[in-house]
Amino acid sequence: MEQTRAQRPIRKVVIAGGGTAGWMVAAGLSKSLGKLLDIKLIESDEIGTVGVGEATIPTLMNFHHLLEIDEREFMAETMATFKLGISFENWRNVGEDYIHSFGTTGTDHWTAGFQHFWHKGRERGLAGDYGDYCLELKASLHNRFAHLPKNGMNYAYHMDAGRYAKFLRRFSERYGVQRVEGKIAEVRKDLICGDIRALRLDSGVELEGDLFIDCTGFRALLIGETMGVGYEDWSHWLFNDSAAALQTKSVGDAIPLTRSIARESGWQWRIPLQHRVGNGIVYSSRYTDDDTAIRTLQANVEGEPLMTPRIIRFKPGQRQQTWKGNCVAIGLASGFLEPIESTSIHLIQRGIIRLMQMFPTDGISQADVDEYNKQAETEIHHIRDFIILHYHVTNRRDTPYWRDAASMPVPASLRHRIDLFRETGRVFRIPNELFAENSWIQVMLGQGIHPRQHHQTADLMGDDELAHFLGSMATSIERTVAQLPSHQQYVQQYCAGT
Ligand code: FAD
Repeated sequence: MEQTRAQRPIRKVVIAGGGTAGWMVAAGLSKSLGKLLDIKLIESDEIGTVGVGEATIPTLMNFHHLLEIDEREFMAETMATFKLGISFENWRNVGEDYIHSFGTTGTDHWTAGFQHFWHKGRERGLAGDYGDYCLELKASLHNRFAHLPKNGMNYAYHMDAGRYAKFLRRFSERYGVQRVEGKIAEVRKDLICGDIRALRLDSGVELEGDLFIDCTGFRALLIGETMGVGYEDWSHWLFNDSAAALQTKSVGDAIPLTRSIARESGWQWRIPLQHRVGNGIVYSSRYTDDDTAIRTLQANVEGEPLMTPRIIRFKPGQRQQTWKGNCVAIGLASGFLEPIESTSIHLIQRGIIRLMQMFPTDGISQADVDEYNKQAETEIHHIRDFIILHYHVTNRRDTPYWRDAASMPVPASLRHRIDLFRETGRVFRIPNELFAENSWIQVMLGQGIHPRQHHQTADLMGDDELAHFLGSMATSIERTVAQLPSHQQYVQQYCAGT
């Protein structure tokens, strides 16, 4: 008798696609459940990968920790540099910058975050910039870095995406993953239950599986084309739908910051690696054309180009379900938010961890599928709001793009957070939300929101006490930063093992 989906044990896993998502899934699954599973990964050299995605956030360290990846080896093999935050340039006004750093700023009181004390200090002429009270931010401004005791600096990486996939491939193959080269020509479904049964390659080889992970990128061959899961389009909030990428030779030292430079109808990234710089422009085809975007990019890179610019099209949004039947989509196949906050690789890793937590070894339970989808949806909604914030709260009105972004209606969840901060200076992190209070505060202040008031707890400090509190914190940070080596020098020595 035919088994139902809930009764069918999962032994054979087929990963379709070998970009960052495919190989991260392969690494995560093989390391944790490799002994129980037969894992195959199909990738097509002819199709290739999206070839971008080189800036990360600190959560990647958790993933590497789970995989027991040696940091020095990872950095040497992927030509990685350290990243302490993102420099947002021209976002609030042309010619003005701010940094969203990965550190904490100041010290909170249990009733009131540090921003309330800083706000009072500003009003009384006693406080410097908000960033003066954040070690990571100050270190990044001085291009300095070192590992500090007790994880004293919070950081992430810039890495070469192509090398990262190769690094994870070697890792996964050690844990038993079999790589199959070829183009998927047909996805075979069970006509009764609708599940995927096998993938047929153009060579005629057929790969059967119990569970299929769709990592085919924007094509979404399994979850979209085969399982028919629709896509929620967010382009009314996030106008950009195109990007052009261009790698250049390095000029000068690598800085520990991703640069995000706003342009007339989009923004440009600059990601410094050990051996080159990743550049690109993200733009909206409703407001500009490819030639103009490419000219803007080419006019604003520093080193010699190593390639001709490559155009990438995308639709901002989310798959309506990321797990359907026996197919789970991870990576670009599951949805895409543009990379201003480097969140895509984080979402891949979250998808993997969630899948491992709910792995259907003894059969797929619909309750697990629903829970997985609900968590994935909530998670991306929070990030979506954070990204929209960067566009909507701006003083820029110089082009139709910025005027429309500033005047568009935003999701009610974001509207509330903006209003709350503007009126009271308060921010609350929603449980399981990626971005903590300090990220919201840095970006809201950076984009130009000035809270009308601060919490009365800050008034319990007199001027002298407040000046001492703020001054000693800033001085201690400055002293620590002055003792740090240059980022470039530290990366070279660290990767060389000296
Ligand atoms: P892909 O890299 O496209 O891989 C798809 C795989 O599927 C390939 O191996 C391909 O060969 C295979 N495939 C497809 N169809 C078939 C078929 N028929 N048969 C066989 N194989 C097939 N993320 C960040 O975290 N930080 C960033 O700084 C960042 N910057 C970005 C900039 C831009 C402009 C874009 C578009 C994305 C950026 N991202 C970033 C997102 C990041 O690039 C992706 O999340 C990441 O690369 C994962 O992509 P993927 O593996 O899902 O897809």
